Amino acid sequence: TRDYRPFAEKALANLFGFPSFRDGQAEVVNAILNGQDTLAVMPTGAGKSVCYQLPATRPGTFTLVVTPLRALMRDQVQHLAAHGIPAAAVDSGVDAEERRAIYETARAGGLRLLYVAPERLVSREFQDFAHSLAIDLLVVDEAHCVLQWGNDFRPEYAAIGGFAASLTPRPVVAAFTATATPDQRDEIAANLGLKNRFIIVTDFDRPNIHFRVVNATPAARLAQIAAWAAARPDECGIVYCATRKRTEQMADALAARGLAATHFHAGMDDARKAEVQDGFLAGRITVICATTAFGMGVDKPDVRWVINDSVPGSLEEYYQEAGRAGRDGKPAVAVLMWSKGDFLLLRKRADEEAGSALADPADRERARIAAKRRVNAISRYCEAERCLRAMLLDYFGQNAPESCGDCSVCDGEDPEALAEAAPAKRRRP
Ligand code: ADP
Ligand code: MG
Repeated sequence: TRDYRPFAEKALANLFGFPSFRDGQAEVVNAILNGQDTLAVMPTGAGKSVCYQLPATRPGTFTLVVTPLRALMRDQVQHLAAHGIPAAAVDSGVDAEERRAIYETARAGGLRLLYVAPERLVSREFQDFAHSLAIDLLVVDEAHCVLQWGNDFRPEYAAIGGFAASLTPRPVVAAFTATATPDQRDEIAANLGLKNRFIIVTDFDRPNIHFRVVNATPAARLAQIAAWAAARPDECGIVYCATRKRTEQMADALAARGLAATHFHAGMDDARKAEVQDGFLAGRITVICATTAFGMGVDKPDVRWVINDSVPGSLEEYYQEAGRAGRDGKPAVAVLMWSKGDFLLLRKRADEEAGSALADPADRERARIAAKRRVNAISRYCEAERCLRAMLLDYFGQNAPESCGDCSVCDGEDPEALAEAAPAKRRRP
């Protein structure tokens, strides 16, 4: 093996204008350049894309990226084009003629990266294309979608391993995810058939985020969140709500306090969604009240607080959403509001919905059990009597000190009311 890191760092600066690598990036790039299959578990916002985009820029190579996030594909393609790197995306919005043109360009060596949704891999037309050229690197983004009993299981992901094995020459396979417990890492690696593999897990701690849990009824939450936001009118924040209707109610309550708050959910048309996202990025809108539809690919560094108005179905999901706070490394707060009623609802949903798409009753049962286990984990977090950060890091398989000295449990904050106090200044050293 060779050490490509110094070379890669120069390329990083030249191609993307970043002065240095972040935690884990150099190691992943180096492993890929050395031809090793790689599984990188790095938190949201850590910069996973660059880890494969950099190796993908090598002249004469072709990289195929599988990702379930359609909106992100187009963003990435534009971003790459802006840096002079030819890339394309094939999603359901691309018609047959355009597809043929894209495949032709790729075969002629005119594309460094092609982004596709997982469904594409099973199409005959695509398979013919994939076997008509050499794929040097196969990237599996959001690789946790391969986990059969996971939250985000995608049946098409189960076919990726076989797809990779069918290619000649076999590409280097690089998988990325923000969430995988130690067991899940092995399952992902086995499922994708990673060989001679390099697995890297970077630090999951977000030391600048102050975690809080607050037990309050849904009615009390509305008032508490409005008061909280009104006490910090210059800060940007996100309130995650369970339903579309609730996002609207919440935004109304905040607007009534004079805040530049807007709702966001999947029922809005694309133009309006873009308008809200742009307004938030530009700072014209300071608080977004959103369903989980908001956030994927929205990279706003100065979100000072994220409040979950109800409990998500898993800690994985929660950590993703909370993690949108404080990407700039400055102090930020993540609050999870809960009541026993939330758990009842989540358990009921796990019972009724988990695995409903699976044909085999035994599989459905396993999916149900897995979903309930996830609900149990997040309910333990809500009712925690020990350090919240330690619980989160434990859950993701990382060792952590027993108490962080900077969460609502360690600090002995009121577990039943969201204090309106001005933003906390005290921070861990
Ligand atoms: P992830 O997929 O891990 O959630 P992304 O790949 O979307 O993260 O990157 C998050 C942000 O970090 C992007 O805006 C990206 O441009 C930025 N970024 C990535 N690597 C670096 C770096 N080495 N230095 C500065 N910014 C970086
Ligand atoms: Mg990503």
